[in-house]
Amino acid sequence: MSLDVAALRAQFPILSKTVDGKPLVYLDNAATTQKPQAVIDALVDFYTGTNANVHRGAHHLSDEATRRYENARSSVASFINANAREEVIWTSGTTEAINIVANGLGQLLGEGDEVMVTELEHHANLVTWQQACRRAGATLNIVPIFDTGELDVEAFDRLLSSNTKMVAFPHVSNALGTVNPIKLLTQKAKAVGAWVLVDGAQGIAHGGVDVQDIGCDFYAFSGHKLFGPTGIGCLWGKKEVLETWPVWQVGGEMIKDVTYHEATWGSLPNRLEAGTPNIAGAIGMGAAVDWFSALDVNALHEHEQKLLAYATEQAEAFEGMRIIGTAPNKVGVLSFLLEGAHPADVGFILDRQGVAIRTGDNCAQPLMKRFGIPGTARASFSIYNTLEEVDSLFAALKKAKMMLA
Ligand code: PMP
Repeated sequence: MSLDVAALRAQFPILSKTVDGKPLVYLDNAATTQKPQAVIDALVDFYTGTNANVHRGAHHLSDEATRRYENARSSVASFINANAREEVIWTSGTTEAINIVANGLGQLLGEGDEVMVTELEHHANLVTWQQACRRAGATLNIVPIFDTGELDVEAFDRLLSSNTKMVAFPHVSNALGTVNPIKLLTQKAKAVGAWVLVDGAQGIAHGGVDVQDIGCDFYAFSGHKLFGPTGIGCLWGKKEVLETWPVWQVGGEMIKDVTYHEATWGSLPNRLEAGTPNIAGAIGMGAAVDWFSALDVNALHEHEQKLLAYATEQAEAFEGMRIIGTAPNKVGVLSFLLEGAHPADVGFILDRQGVAIRTGDNCAQPLMKRFGIPGTARASFSIYNTLEEVDSLFAALKKAKMMLA
């Protein structure tokens, strides 16, 4: 069944917006996706009729807010095929999810221990481990990539050892679009007894994530890249790992018993969720997951691949364009440079024509340095984009080239 893109687009109010009198062509989906009416309604509905704090239980509204909030947790759990709903920990996003794991790990690491990440990392999956290693006196190893943006799996093998305590890598690279062989990498890391964290920020919106099948210990993602609100995300972890993972944030909600000098922690998921959570955000993320789950995941993949293939074909034929990231297994991202033009200027001229892209270091400065470039222009596609919008991107790029090169 092919995707009815027009019907899909009609559910996103913002997509009918104009910018300077030109139709908005939104190609910055790796930064954040737009929100369907179902998610907007869930947020308005919560604040209009159900707003109260959760888990306080003393009145009707609180019970109703708790019910919706915990239902959202169940939706997310089944969306990623978690084994149990308490394996889903609400966070403010991928960044906080990785911080929870890295700061917990920091309490377990010692000298001689090693952590492994890749050259592909977003700062969120690099600086976190860097700091944890620094505090513990542990070593951070970086797995190299090839010029295509593919991971060097043989180097991954060479760097793995019984000293490796944690291996973390992105499901999909935000800067290049490379899809990593996450199941294979997980198997290899588990074979030496390491914990595995997958940074799923860019993987989750492409559907079909099954955490049990991947076999990792942690999978981190954000609601806002999955058609949900900002300020909410999720750390999924294996129950037996989360149950004893050292806590990082402490305060209300996460405790069992407290005296003036001692405290003990509650059970999952609360032990890793300190303070009043983002209740509306969680409900909005649940609505996003319910909305997304009703779509045909194979049709989505097919459409996304068609968009990327069409854009890549035009990029290859575009004189003076250099594509950064040419791995055979890619999704959603076309990063590029225009000869003689700064990416920021390209972005500015595109914006004047209603085309929204990202320019800069893609929150991956070491990766940009690896390619010897200051940054890229990045067009990133989502399920509601059309082939006509790809044409608009390249028409705008032709103008940019005329003006800049
Ligand atoms: N990892 C990757 C691969 C990302 O693309 C992003 C967001 N750009 C993050 C982590 C961080 O996500 P957030 O800012 O939503 O916490």
